[in-house]
Amino acid sequence: MENIAENIAAVQKKIAAAQERGLHSSKNIQLLAVSKTYPIERIREAVAAGQLAFGENRVQELVEKFEHEPELGWHLIGHLQTNKVKYLIGKTRLIHSLDSMELAKEIEKRSAAQALQTNVLVQLNIAMEETKSGLEEGELSDFLDEVCSLPHLRVCGLMTIGPHVEQPEEIRSVFSRLRQLRDAQLQIQRPNCDPSLLSMGMSGDYEIAVEEGANILRVGSAIFGQRNYS
Ligand SMILES: *Cc1c(COP(=O)(O)O)cnc(C)c1O
Repeated sequence: MENIAENIAAVQKKIAAAQERGLHSSKNIQLLAVSKTYPIERIREAVAAGQLAFGENRVQELVEKFEHEPELGWHLIGHLQTNKVKYLIGKTRLIHSLDSMELAKEIEKRSAAQALQTNVLVQLNIAMEETKSGLEEGELSDFLDEVCSLPHLRVCGLMTIGPHVEQPEEIRSVFSRLRQLRDAQLQIQRPNCDPSLLSMGMSGDYEIAVEEGANILRVGSAIFGQRNYS
């Protein structure tokens, strides 16, 4: 059985070292523990070790865990289908995976109905992998112009998933590109929009992500151990 407290401490130590090394690293970095497939008991072990923010990639699983622990910060990191939005609103701190105007409009509608403002990140597919969702970088500015006109959404930043590559340096170029896109968008004034967050880096590549300026890391297996999807 994994010792979750020890794993979190080890990850935090590597984050601090990468932060020290990186020329572009952020001052404040939030570690999100990706708890998909893990039961609430293991999540509570992480809470006992001081971890308060968790990432899930399925709405149903997030909502079930929220019902157990509504005080924790639940982030939706996986692809979000429009027809699931109604179950999610009011239960998530941050949606990392906004990738279409249709989805934005549904989040707007459901948030308005509950008189809430929902925090979102725009997901980009920098490496243009066919298997991954997310906007292409050329679409970002127009997309933000439109999304930021929706008063019940707040755009808090950008997210990407590192590509599957042999060379870690290829991942680095994707992460540094996301940072550059974020820096460019920060120059543009829009309502309901402060895209300062950069969600990038998972168990295999979070140190590179920290060096390249990530300020939210999505780390699962390095904390909870290998997942069993059965
Ligand atoms: C599962 C998942 C993670 C965490 O992956 P690990 O390799 O276990 O750290 C991060 N981001 C997304 C979008 C995921 O689905």
